[in-house]
Amino acid sequence: MLVVMQEGAAEESVQRVIDRLVTMGFTVHRSTGTSHTVLGGVGPMDNFEPAEFEVMEGVKECHRIVSPYKLANKRFRPQGTVVEIGKVKIGGPEVVMMAGPCSVESEEQISLSAELVAKAGAKVIRGGAFKPRSSPYSFQGLGEQGLKMLRAAADRNGLLVVSEVMDRSQIALLSEYSDILQVGARNMQNFNLLRDLGLARKPVLLKRGIAATIEELLLSAEYIMSGGNYEIMLCERGIRTFETATRNTMDISAIPVLQQLTHLPVLADPSHGVGKRNLVAPMARAAVAAGADGLLVEVHHDPEHALSDGAQSLYPDQFAELMGQLRGIAAAVGRSV
Ligand code: PEP
Ligand code: MN
Repeated sequence: MLVVMQEGAAEESVQRVIDRLVTMGFTVHRSTGTSHTVLGGVGPMDNFEPAEFEVMEGVKECHRIVSPYKLANKRFRPQGTVVEIGKVKIGGPEVVMMAGPCSVESEEQISLSAELVAKAGAKVIRGGAFKPRSSPYSFQGLGEQGLKMLRAAADRNGLLVVSEVMDRSQIALLSEYSDILQVGARNMQNFNLLRDLGLARKPVLLKRGIAATIEELLLSAEYIMSGGNYEIMLCERGIRTFETATRNTMDISAIPVLQQLTHLPVLADPSHGVGKRNLVAPMARAAVAAGADGLLVEVHHDPEHALSDGAQSLYPDQFAELMGQLRGIAAAVGRSV
């Protein structure tokens, strides 16, 4: 349930409401907006009467949240969440571009990648060091060695890093090198991982599972938020349907749907969404037009020799060209790139 405090409500009034919620058995999550404080109570809903709270001093209104996700609900933070990492703000007016290879493969590859994506205007470099591959015989990533190369290349070019954490045992290591912890599609419902990420003090990029509904994606975000980590970005990356013309079916509609349901920033990954290089730019343009707060795009300096996902990786000049197109589209929808 949600208790919305009046504008400028005294701290003692807020505390009285928190104490009462706690006495009733609720766990209280606090969201402090520019005008209103919102208290989210998670717990037993029987015997609970919103009117009892509405008469308390400093309370504006109180609602039951009927959706199964409470903290990820738009009503918990109607002003929206902006994930701020250094100078980069995800969820604000700028559409934040995250780009780079699928996997970190070598010092030379990641250095070239960082240079080229930074030059084109990306703010974050992507690159997996732990790779979830369908086959155990495929390249599995360079592990910590890859993370070191990625971090150094990012720092040389003033970029942030996003890299995938596949298992809860890797959270500490990833946190050392990466600014954003990516949870891959295959791990969206790894609930032990999500719970531990709730205790981590790093922003999380949570990808939609290959067969997950939007509600399931939001419930996975709720797992992380219920542990106290509210710094989450959701990412649409295509879902599995009966269609075989593309690797996945890019669900562009998920972007505005999520933005109606949640305050969390919504990103799109057109590369995994379609799996084919020549279809990535149209889907990237569509995602920005649909209101995405950022994109995750695979780019490789030599896609023919990439160790993973070469077929969907853009050539450097294709990425630069796409960035130019996105600037025009972002401006048309009141954003910037
Ligand atoms: C990736 O970003 O390289 C990746 C493995 O993505 P997904 O989890 O969406 O398949
Ligand atoms: Mn990939």
